[in-house]
Amino acid sequence: MYETVIGLEVHVELGTKTKIFCGCETEFGAPPNTHVCPVCMGSPGVLPVLNEQALRLGMKAAMALHCEVRKDSKFDRKNYFYPDSPKAYQISQYDEPIGEHGYIDIEVGGQVRRIGITRVHLEEDAGKLSHSVFGDASYVDFNRVGIPLIEIVSEPDIQTAEEARLYLEELKAIMQYCAVSECKMEEGSLRCDANISLRPIGQKELGTKTEIKNMNSFRHVERGLLFEQERQEAMLHRNEMIVQETRRFDESTMSTISMRSKEDAHDYRYFAEPDLPRIVVSDRFLAECLAEIPELPAQKRARFVQDYGLPDYDASVLTATRPLAEFFDETAKRVKDPKVASNWIMGDVLGYLKTTDATIETFAISSMRLAELIGLIENGTISTKIAKSVFKDMLETGKDAKILIEEQGLVQISDESALRAIAQKVIENNPKSVQDVVAGKDKAIGSLVGQMMKETKGKANPQVVNQILKELITG
Ligand SMILES: [Zn+2]
Repeated sequence: MYETVIGLEVHVELGTKTKIFCGCETEFGAPPNTHVCPVCMGSPGVLPVLNEQALRLGMKAAMALHCEVRKDSKFDRKNYFYPDSPKAYQISQYDEPIGEHGYIDIEVGGQVRRIGITRVHLEEDAGKLSHSVFGDASYVDFNRVGIPLIEIVSEPDIQTAEEARLYLEELKAIMQYCAVSECKMEEGSLRCDANISLRPIGQKELGTKTEIKNMNSFRHVERGLLFEQERQEAMLHRNEMIVQETRRFDESTMSTISMRSKEDAHDYRYFAEPDLPRIVVSDRFLAECLAEIPELPAQKRARFVQDYGLPDYDASVLTATRPLAEFFDETAKRVKDPKVASNWIMGDVLGYLKTTDATIETFAISSMRLAELIGLIENGTISTKIAKSVFKDMLETGKDAKILIEEQGLVQISDESALRAIAQKVIENNPKSVQDVVAGKDKAIGSLVGQMMKETKGKANPQVVNQILKELITG
């Protein structure tokens, strides 16, 4: 029997306006090779200058990942020759990264698992290569060269493909909460490579690992790791040697394909970057970074369960992004039962957003207006059923719930004498259902309630109706 050992290397683009060592813009989607200058192109004689905002975001990320941060660190040159790098080296950090010894907690099957983070370091991005479909040419776009990145290296603490996905989801949420990065995998602002090896259960030393690249979604990471786990297990069962290599995930076959043998660190001839001074930060700078870290997803989840009495599931759905969590928070504060707010947001609001291009940030109904609608159910003005149609009308007309209810005469009828008169009529017209109720068939009352709703165009207060019907039938 074998156990799986997985470590992840995640690159996150820092959300700065300009590149890490020059003033070129970082905006995604510009025409190729328009955001370039002599510094990021590595012309002779130019000197890089560190973008303070990149350092600040990198530091915040390291702190949010519970790392010990260095007040004094340095940049190093990672030398390699490839067409995506105009300088033929990448400025990175080797032995003195800005952060080390952090962790992310994930929840697997109701249990918290702590995944260690080895290091967080700053570096610059490389260019983007694309290849002609005819196979006769390759193109390079240098707009991405010099965009600030952090690389987040996990400890080999991850044991399954599912844990890898959970770790990535939590990492992404933390980065988004801290406004370090938008983490759009489709735009490459979050990229993940995985190392995976197998070893016999009980064995201490690690087996030979392979590295998987080119996984463009969390689902691909999960599929790629599952494939690789099975491939290695089958090889070990056949007593074959695993080759240390880099493999590419292939989307069309959901499998991995060998790319090249894996480089070791010494292949890159790292040495201290001579064109940049050491990075030395003040206590004040660190305090400012720390102060900018908001309540993180795990803390928010715990608070939603504790303070609002939400089930774990609701809390994790509602904290998936910071704007969603804030929307819920603002709604829940204004209503009697936070679980009702949770149901509306998880059901009606998220359901609606799924069918449109809107996000919670551009959603047409503010948390305050949603809370008002829920309040009208809670104080008995309208039924939940009517509220659903008011909600739709709010989206269509942009009007407030109160105005729509007034305009359409939707106020719930809770007046007993009015309802009693209608109930009498319903009872006379439905002798069969009345008999069933008398005979103890509880379900039959539902059909009578339904008739009442029909008579009142859905405006009768269901609780009051239930009570009156029972009274009239059973005395
Ligand atoms: Zn530049």
